[in-house]
Amino acid sequence: MKLELSRVVQGGCRLGVLKGLGRSGQHSLEVPGCLLYTRCGTVPHLTQDTLHTLTNLPSVTQLTLSTIAEHQEVLEDFKDGFRKFAGLHDTVLYCSLHDPVTPCPAGHITNKTVSVWGSGGRIELTVAKFMALQRTVRPDWYQSMADGETWQSNTSRKRVRKSVDRTLAHLDECLLVHHKTQELQGVAVFGVVEGGDILEERVRSAKETAKRPVAGFCLDGLQTGSMDQALRIQLIAAVTKELPEGKPRLLQGVGRPDEVLACVEAGVDLFESFFPFQVTERGCALCFNFDITPDPERAVLEADEERDTAGETHENGELNLDDQMTSFEINLKDKRYQDDFRPLVEGCGCYCCRNHQRAYLHHLLVTNELLAGVLLMLHNTAHYLAFFGALREALAQDTLDLLKKKVLKEKCGQTKSKE
Ligand SMILES: [Zn+2]
Repeated sequence: MKLELSRVVQGGCRLGVLKGLGRSGQHSLEVPGCLLYTRCGTVPHLTQDTLHTLTNLPSVTQLTLSTIAEHQEVLEDFKDGFRKFAGLHDTVLYCSLHDPVTPCPAGHITNKTVSVWGSGGRIELTVAKFMALQRTVRPDWYQSMADGETWQSNTSRKRVRKSVDRTLAHLDECLLVHHKTQELQGVAVFGVVEGGDILEERVRSAKETAKRPVAGFCLDGLQTGSMDQALRIQLIAAVTKELPEGKPRLLQGVGRPDEVLACVEAGVDLFESFFPFQVTERGCALCFNFDITPDPERAVLEADEERDTAGETHENGELNLDDQMTSFEINLKDKRYQDDFRPLVEGCGCYCCRNHQRAYLHHLLVTNELLAGVLLMLHNTAHYLAFFGALREALAQDTLDLLKKKVLKEKCGQTKSKE
């Protein structure tokens, strides 16, 4: 794996291509970018066929150990690795520890073990079991075992220090087993940077992890809801300063477009793409605007849209979405969409927007039809991936400020999320 940077903008944002991915080395991934979020190898709501109606899919598929740890014996019997087991198309497989969407109960970590939660409950992992799982799954990259339980703001300094020490010890043990395991030759290990909200511990974790022979870095414990954005950015900037330039940095648990933009400026390369899934689960559609091409006709359209949304009333009290919904989406369960015959997003090329209107989606949602999730997931994934495309284009063209203005303008006209 090799990261070729074509530009570093304003000291932080990195534009480039990760090359030589996968065991054959034939895949690449543009950064800033995201991985493909899955549960048990499948993008929620979508079959491989519907998924592949989307263009420009990320070349890296994320699988979380929590969703497959309890199937270890089956996978061992199967013998051919998870990619074949799940019928995945040609993709680079990245295995991480936890699902970014599912909260993980605290208080089950010891010096020698971490726990993940599958559908049948808690599974305790030692380094030996963790590495046995990796050998069975046969990913192309995997996240090293880590003690990531220090993201709550009330975690003591002592506990944070312990988590950094444990995570480094886990990494050393994983690497030791890794190098002795024939099946894992050519597989990339990502070291995990911990340190809670304590700057010195973050820097120490970054420096120490960077000394190890890892292919890249996971920045853990900085997820949405763990701390305020200013502190997160300060910590990320301090961490990325300590990491070698030629290796990728993957930020876990952050997906909101405004947060993505700020984290890219702090030096993050890769994100998990769970955000479109969360939006889909609450019956919403991503609709934020990231088109910064100067087009006079488009400008007129936007002025109309703004008038449209100015007088909106939102009847979502009963749905109680205020806590989760962001300003980047519209809530299609809202009555106002029952006779809205426009596509979700004008000009979007996804299957849903080419074939259906908001009114139909509203109908599917209020009647609890499974197709609602399929169509929303298609659109939300397409929209999110296009946002990353626009972000890379803005970095290449030196128009990041313009893009930021556009995205942060929050044009969907919905209730702001509470932080
Ligand atoms: Zn669409």
